[in-house]
Amino acid sequence: MQNQSRVDVLGVGFDAVTPDAAVSRSVAILESRGGAVRYVVTPNPEIVESCRRDTVARDAVENAALVLPDGIGVIYAAKILGRPLKTRVTGIDYAAALLEICAERGYGLYLLGAKSGIAEVAADKLRATYDGLRIVGTHDGYFSDDAAVIAAINAAEPHMLFVCLGAPRQETWIARNAEKLDARLAVCLGGALDVWAGIARRAPVRWQKLGLEWLYRLLREPRRIGRMIKLPLFLVRAVGARIRGGGHG
Ligand code: UDP
Repeated sequence: MQNQSRVDVLGVGFDAVTPDAAVSRSVAILESRGGAVRYVVTPNPEIVESCRRDTVARDAVENAALVLPDGIGVIYAAKILGRPLKTRVTGIDYAAALLEICAERGYGLYLLGAKSGIAEVAADKLRATYDGLRIVGTHDGYFSDDAAVIAAINAAEPHMLFVCLGAPRQETWIARNAEKLDARLAVCLGGALDVWAGIARRAPVRWQKLGLEWLYRLLREPRRIGRMIKLPLFLVRAVGARIRGGGHG
């Protein structure tokens, strides 16, 4: 069941929050105690498309504590559907705000995902950027034994966990294992560890402001064309849904 207070964009409910509100709601979760780990997802059009076909991914997204609109495509689609979201909440900027808070308050962070060795490099760079940040553990994202990884995470006793396994694996992984994890907040962040480690680069701010991050990424990684071709199709589907007067595509 989709959360009624969310804005439906082609079948996925998004929280219409500003970046500041997203951070304060997350801090409230970090301050809470007990129960399963609560998690945050930042779906882009590609994930919305996966959720149409994949009910496990859709349930995982729906059960998130916060569904943040990352990707300009989601914002455009919401506009086309006539139910605009407040603004884009970019996963990596939202994560940066949380990192500052964790550094200030001494919350422990665990980094899960990316190829072997990348999370460690990202951890070093993050420690250098956020004075006092406590990164209590890292693990690469290419594993098959969930139980061993969960045991390693719990042994490190993090307050927050960044899950960077790519979509929709990261969303289904955290949904499936939320009850077994002792952390308070988990955030699904796709390729963020690669960015922090310096092996993937974010678009320059001007490109970001123009909503052209996707184009920058495509120019740097042309093999993504197959995935990105779905963006215009996604917008066409939003137009179709608007004409038919529905939002579910
Ligand atoms: N990844 C991983 N385990 C997997 C598949 C992918 O840890 O089984 C990592 C991959 O190394 C990369 C990130 O997940 O660091 C996905 O990055 P991408 O930019 O493709 O993210 P998306 O666009 O899917 O959010």
